[in-house]
Amino acid sequence: MNEIPKDWSASFEVDGIGFKASLVPSSWKYRGYKLQLDVEMAGGGGHEIIPSEKPFSDCTVLDAYALITTIKHRLFAGGLSPCPECGETTWNRTVFPSETRDARCERCWMREWRDQWNEEANLERVKQEIHDLDMARKGFTHSLEAWIHTGKDDRRLMQLFLREAVTDKEVAALLKKQGCKLQNDFQVRKLPAAMSFEEAKARADQLNINARAAGLKLDAFSANAAAGSKLEAAKGGEAYRQAKARFETAKHIQHAFNRWYEKVFRVSIQQESETQQGSEPGLKRSILRAIAGDKAADG
Ligand SMILES: [Zn+2]
Repeated sequence: MNEIPKDWSASFEVDGIGFKASLVPSSWKYRGYKLQLDVEMAGGGGHEIIPSEKPFSDCTVLDAYALITTIKHRLFAGGLSPCPECGETTWNRTVFPSETRDARCERCWMREWRDQWNEEANLERVKQEIHDLDMARKGFTHSLEAWIHTGKDDRRLMQLFLREAVTDKEVAALLKKQGCKLQNDFQVRKLPAAMSFEEAKARADQLNINARAAGLKLDAFSANAAAGSKLEAAKGGEAYRQAKARFETAKHIQHAFNRWYEKVFRVSIQQESETQQGSEPGLKRSILRAIAGDKAADG
């Protein structure tokens, strides 16, 4: 028997580009699986998993080399094409179809994914902050997030808002009471101070400016395209996509904050007119104007 060693790998070159093929572990890990090779393009060009028709248990090293020969044929026969975004050579998706990748190279794809992920993380951070601000207004000062370990592999997340700081010892005692077997898997977070109306308004104004600036940057692409500038080619390209993602995130953040801002300070207006008979009309108007947004404030 000439079974393929688990750490088997082989390098080859096509059109001056280096490739390294190594054995995919599921080939030998699971009974009845076909031989599969993980083919990596040098220089961060990404991976392709290429399966053989033959079950791994029937394969020898010769089968692995035979698979490499067919992969090389596919690469030579149109399997490589330029990335539509950066022009670097990459996998041609008509020859190597993919459910997760488009025609772009791995580097361009990853860059967009990272940008997207950063934008989403920004939005999530703001949403969390808004929630924290909301709880701070209700008089809470700290948040406790703890994993309650009830069994060997069972755990559930518990979140509590607290009106004062707690010591680790107090948290451990609380977790013990909840039937938690591991009493150090928690995090206490200090909430931001509650925002005053003026602070909230300043923040809303700033987010409005941010969203408008991001919108102007995005508009510049259309304007340049209309003027027949070379930047037209960039529309659909990386810079355009990035500007679009930033604009969308800025809008989402603006909306999320404004929703909270309106909700919270509209409530306080009603409370004011209820509690203060004949409350100062000037103040009421200025709050309403702030809520109505810039349009009213400009006029
Ligand atoms: Zn590229």
